[in-house]
Amino acid sequence: MSDDVVTQAGWENTPRKGFFTDTSVCIGCKACEVACKEWNAVPEDGLNFTGMSYDNTGALGADTWRHVAFIEQKKRPVDLGMPTVGTPSAQAQETGDGMRWLMSSDVCKHCTHAACLDVCPTGALFRTEFGTVVVQQDVCNGCGYCVSACPYGVIDQRKDDGRVFKCTMCYDRIGDGLEPACAKACPTDSIQYGDLDVLRAAADARLETLHAQGVPEAELYGRDPDDGVGGNGAFFLLLDRPEVYGLPPDPVVTTRDLPSMWRHAGVAALGLLAAAGAAFAAGARR
Ligand code: SF4
Ligand code: SF4
Repeated sequence: MSDDVVTQAGWENTPRKGFFTDTSVCIGCKACEVACKEWNAVPEDGLNFTGMSYDNTGALGADTWRHVAFIEQKKRPVDLGMPTVGTPSAQAQETGDGMRWLMSSDVCKHCTHAACLDVCPTGALFRTEFGTVVVQQDVCNGCGYCVSACPYGVIDQRKDDGRVFKCTMCYDRIGDGLEPACAKACPTDSIQYGDLDVLRAAADARLETLHAQGVPEAELYGRDPDDGVGGNGAFFLLLDRPEVYGLPPDPVVTTRDLPSMWRHAGVAALGLLAAAGAAFAAGARR
């Protein structure tokens, strides 16, 4: 199935926009989280100490539209070619006695086949002219169907309000030709914003470079238009398996079987109608 969601949604002449988050250059500064909160006036989400490395945000939620995960690993360090950081010590490389943080700024994936959008009964969730998925807060009735439909656990309800909130890819900013606040604030360009096909080509080139530099475990996540959600508008370069980052390894759009379920329900309803008609006719003959 095509991933041209812009045309499918009835829009014309706008290239699909996206995020490419290259976690190999994320330094965990959380500027993206802060910029997102500030621009979108997202309320604080609890000033808690989680005990999870330097991550006191915890997870994506109604009041956390970007979440920088910190994963501590005992690992042989590799040289990622970042001149200001320098190369790992020879001893650490030799003994493998090192540790590393995997840092990754997670966000709504703006899926090609977005289950949240499929199940929304009010049309509060819609596909924008940029191919992104946005909630209209004044139309959301707080039913929460989208929360259980999202295969990534992204979209979430505010407890005191009931309505759902998530990343809009800064719909207001990109409509004015600006980049989203997180991408603008990221000092290392770990978060890149732009035309999705341009980002995909950049990601492919970056992956090739990392593989050539001896990082064979580097992989792209959400890049493949043939995966279970048709690929994502927001995709990632990871340095380990997706589940290490808390991402589902093989996500599938949860509404995939809806058409066949409706077909079966239709056939069952017709069968019931036919049986009721036959019973009525038999009764009338008696
Ligand atoms: S990640 Fe979840 S909330 Fe975001 S578009 Fe996909 S299904 Fe919807
Ligand atoms: S702003 Fe960039 S470098 Fe800083 S935490 Fe976010 S993604 Fe990582």
